[in-house]
Amino acid sequence: MSRLSTFITHLECSHTGEVYEAGAVHGLSQTGKPLLVRYNLPEIAKAVSKDELRQRSGGFWRYKEFLPVTNEENIIRLGEVVTPLVPITRSVQKYGVTDGAVMIKDDSRLPTGSFKARGLALAVSMAKELGLRHLAMPTNGNAGAAMAAYASRVGIKTTVFCPSDTPKINIAEMALQGANVYLINGLINDCGKIVGEGKDTVGWFDVSTLKEPYRIEGKKTIGLEIAEQMNWDLPDVIFYPTGGGTGLIGMWKAFDELEAIGWIGSKRPRMVAVQAAGCAPIVKSFDDGANHATLWKNAQTIAAGIRVPAAIGDFLILKAVRDSGGFAIAVSDEAICDARDELAINDGFLMCPEGAATYAAYVHALKSGLVEPQNRVLLFNSATGLKYDMPLKVQTLSLGERIPYEDMRSSPP
Ligand SMILES: *Cc1c(COP(=O)(O)O)cnc(C)c1O
Repeated sequence: MSRLSTFITHLECSHTGEVYEAGAVHGLSQTGKPLLVRYNLPEIAKAVSKDELRQRSGGFWRYKEFLPVTNEENIIRLGEVVTPLVPITRSVQKYGVTDGAVMIKDDSRLPTGSFKARGLALAVSMAKELGLRHLAMPTNGNAGAAMAAYASRVGIKTTVFCPSDTPKINIAEMALQGANVYLINGLINDCGKIVGEGKDTVGWFDVSTLKEPYRIEGKKTIGLEIAEQMNWDLPDVIFYPTGGGTGLIGMWKAFDELEAIGWIGSKRPRMVAVQAAGCAPIVKSFDDGANHATLWKNAQTIAAGIRVPAAIGDFLILKAVRDSGGFAIAVSDEAICDARDELAINDGFLMCPEGAATYAAYVHALKSGLVEPQNRVLLFNSATGLKYDMPLKVQTLSLGERIPYEDMRSSPP
């Protein structure tokens, strides 16, 4: 069995700094807060170089020195790729935006069609390493699908609880990939309660967002990847569709670690937490100047992935946003749909609603002067748009009837 040179030193409570040992099964800290993995960063810098990284294949697993898996054979692979940065041009021309300044980080191209693959590849690989046999989680769809896929690949049992109005494709794919799926007439936090309360009876391990320490290590690879792709010169602003916030917290952790080893300087992007107007607890607490969010009542949005009424890592999201000089912004479902349609028709890019929310927020921020047209901006597309309901804008023809070719002529320029 080949061992990875692992650089993990310990885990640490994100609130109190209390230390926990590596190599053991961990959930939350004693005080009920997320645990963060800590590494011997100077040793990582000695063990791998930027040049060596460039030669490697294997998507986010390329950053193995920055990741917690210690035994190569526990790494679960489904064909991970480095996801592209796709420039958006035609949609933003009318706002006087500098050519090439706006790019989409397109994580729809990961296994299971969403960036949840990053976190769950790590969480499930670590579950395998630590000998866990049954994983459970509340999900709005994509996390459950990624967990099921990676776990089924190594014969680990999975059980998921999702709101009954979760996008149909998500529900189907979770079950098809081996999860026991339960639909609940409530929201993701209600589902989370079921997982927590069943733990002692069933014996499953709770893989909820930030309730175990390794999903965030997977999400951290977004930040590592962006830095490497942009030649270690980070963008000015990053718009992130925020539910539980792991991607945003993860990117911030990545930037901390990269700065600590001297691979990037102290210049950081402004981090923008984007939420839906129908579920915006982080935006509200940001506006209120609070350090924690309060439960959002009657959460509603078509952007299922960010319908998260309460986030256990709220204080970490708010701290990263504030430390970065960023902001939090909410957009309506109508603005989300308009943004999706605009990018699809002008730039040939079909965003998921959560991703489209970042574009809607960007345009709003541009118009209100929160960002400048020359800022280098990264929008995050967290999943494929194909998993969601889409408007059907079509016409029907009947064979045997005359085809109205005259209506199909291109209009004069
Ligand atoms: C889960 C999810 C999000 C939100 O991610 P968090 O890490 O919970 O903030 C955004 N978009 C999609 C498509 C998702 O599945």
